[in-house]
Amino acid sequence: MRKKIVAGNWKMNNNFHEAEDLLIEIDEMMTDNPVPGVAVVLCVPFPYLEMATDMAKESNFLVGAQNLYPGESGAFTGEISAPMLASLETDVCIIGHSERRKYFHEDNALLAEKVKSALKYEIIPIFCCGETLAEREKGIHKEVVENQLKESLFHLNPDGFSNVVIAYEPVWAIGTGVNATPEQAQEMHSFIRYIVAKKYGEPLAGETSILYGGSCNSANAGVLFAQPDVDGGLIGGASLKAEEFWKIVQSFDNP
Ligand code: PEP
Repeated sequence: MRKKIVAGNWKMNNNFHEAEDLLIEIDEMMTDNPVPGVAVVLCVPFPYLEMATDMAKESNFLVGAQNLYPGESGAFTGEISAPMLASLETDVCIIGHSERRKYFHEDNALLAEKVKSALKYEIIPIFCCGETLAEREKGIHKEVVENQLKESLFHLNPDGFSNVVIAYEPVWAIGTGVNATPEQAQEMHSFIRYIVAKKYGEPLAGETSILYGGSCNSANAGVLFAQPDVDGGLIGGASLKAEEFWKIVQSFDNP
């Protein structure tokens, strides 16, 4: 059975005290209204990882980073490596978010290195893929996503791949208030599963969690998560309000 996952991507938001309050509020929601069978991941900014991993020891969420540098250590001023994240007991790392592809020029080859580095330190990569609006309008969205998967993930052996979570995040839906329709999400998720099955076989493809991301909120999560190939969400803006985020987690089986 593949895992149901809801991951919050806090991006570059909240000061330390606001982050602490948000973690406490989410923890309270979790305690008061647990949602069994759904893994909850909070991808916080680097400086808050230690606070989050400390809190996670008493709670029921996993902690994620939003990026890593694929080197081990050395003269890479300002960067954070996988072994550093592992030393803070970071469970997960988002890799290949479209904001990093766009603003920091991260390409598929670099992302392949990042995925390898995360797995070496037993950090689960949430690998983001997705097309721009121009690519969708040109009708090449499937080709773009297939290439992202092939060039950044398909160097992995089946064992390595089995620890990867994929997030389909159409760039045109991120932070825009325009989510993919459930039909568009299902079409791409089932295509991704088909591509993974061609490379690794149906059993492993069937075990792979594929999350949807892009303007997902409590009003649309239920119907998106009800699609047969949508295993949860990667949530940006709506993960910054505890109550809204928790409603999204509760959306499984609640279309
Ligand atoms: C994201 O940044 O991963 C994301 C999905 O953002 P939003 O939910 O705000 O569109």
